[in-house]
Amino acid sequence: MTRITYVNGRYVPSLEAQVSVEDRGYQFADGVYEVCEVWDGELIDEGRHLDRFYRSLAELKIAEPAARPALKVVMREILARNRLANGYLYIQATRGVAHRDHPFPDPPVRPSLVVAAKSLAPEKGEAAARAGVKVIVTPDLRWKRVDIKSISLLPNVLARQEAREKGAYEAWLVGDDGLISEGAASNAWIVDAGRTVVTRQLDRSILRGITRTTLIELIAAEGLRVEERPFSLKEALDAREAFITGATTLVMPVVEIDGRKIGEGRPGPVATRLRALFHGFAAHSN
Ligand code: PLP
Repeated sequence: MTRITYVNGRYVPSLEAQVSVEDRGYQFADGVYEVCEVWDGELIDEGRHLDRFYRSLAELKIAEPAARPALKVVMREILARNRLANGYLYIQATRGVAHRDHPFPDPPVRPSLVVAAKSLAPEKGEAAARAGVKVIVTPDLRWKRVDIKSISLLPNVLARQEAREKGAYEAWLVGDDGLISEGAASNAWIVDAGRTVVTRQLDRSILRGITRTTLIELIAAEGLRVEERPFSLKEALDAREAFITGATTLVMPVVEIDGRKIGEGRPGPVATRLRALFHGFAAHSN
């Protein structure tokens, strides 16, 4: 089946989908993106993903490439045309196409918009979750506004590559304060000795993960304690459990950090339970 991607008003075969070499996304990483999970044909937490998308655009003063109702129509069209059952929608907007010059184009140009569908095999994620994943720790080299979901991801790319070279799934990023901010493409969590679930508070040093937001509500509904505060590598190594979250990763148990076992070295009960409950708790739309 030919995959179809939406590019600036047109639905085109993905292999023919193109943007200009003068697109500011290509030249300056001047753009933002969203990843919204599709599970059993339904969008998971679409409202929260769209809220974050429009917030990222506003923070960078990029004009809305489409109003929210129109974007929702495009997302559904891409879902349908690709008959996507499991995977995610990738949405990217950039400041548009203009002769290369650092300041914003004046007069402004039309922002570029791409919506693409990617399929994922759910069994793969489930198998990874049953085994648990390894993470490494590496310095956080990113800029100071990582709360914006910008397409400028070079430090994240380098961190994930380092993880891969070391046989790990994810890299946890350590800030100048010596504390773990988040993963290169996920939020970071631990379960401490008192069974409190800990993840960093929302500030400009982490992305406001949508999975994180929904999971905090699920944790409270389960009667577990959650604390939003930073934690150190030492605290993580001493934790009962660790896990990461992301829209396609869901809740993924971490069994090893920098070659050292966490807890029993097996996926823990809290992470395993939260993963099992997640889709039943999150919002679905189609
Ligand atoms: N942190 C970073 C740096 C990410 O890139 C991501 C997802 O890609 C997340 C956290 C998790 O966010 P979400 O749960 O919205 O996918």
